[in-house]
Amino acid sequence: MSFVAGLNTLPIAGLFTSSFRTTLSVVRETLAKRRLGLADFAQLLSPAAGELLAQLCHRSQALTRQRFGKVIRLFAPLYLSNECVNQCKYCGFSRDNPILRVTLSVEEVLREARALQAQGFRNLLLVAGEHPKFVSRDYLAECVRALHQEVPSIALEVGPMETEDYRPIVEAGADGLVV
Ligand code: SF4
Repeated sequence: MSFVAGLNTLPIAGLFTSSFRTTLSVVRETLAKRRLGLADFAQLLSPAAGELLAQLCHRSQALTRQRFGKVIRLFAPLYLSNECVNQCKYCGFSRDNPILRVTLSVEEVLREARALQAQGFRNLLLVAGEHPKFVSRDYLAECVRALHQEVPSIALEVGPMETEDYRPIVEAGADGLVV
């Protein structure tokens, strides 16, 4: 089942109603439970729960530490291409900027990744401007496939695509996306 299909099966309207109707004492009881489900989550997001923000923060922090420990996850950006069809005023990649345009070959991408790995980076974020010709789905999948052999975690920050276009990139080994 896809994420959207799964999301659509959730009783969101009912959860909203119970969230808006809940009281402070119910939220207190919920917060005291050892295990929490989706209905409990709706209680904790309720307007009434606003009174208990400090307790919510405490519980949330304890859960985060339990699951992840005291960890900060670092990633390094790896720039694949500065080709872009857009004109965002704040961005150096903007189409009308008279700069040298470069798109790395897969071999060059691997070389960059190895240099980053030598510095200790294990999570790479592949970054590129928005240009369907130079930064195509197939190019991205090829880069990810080559890197996947050597890099434990690969995410992308590239132009938005259709669901079908993401599929081969995920199959190649990508595990994250920033839009
Ligand atoms: S790279 Fe991104 S931010 Fe920069 S011009 Fe292109 S779309 Fe805009």
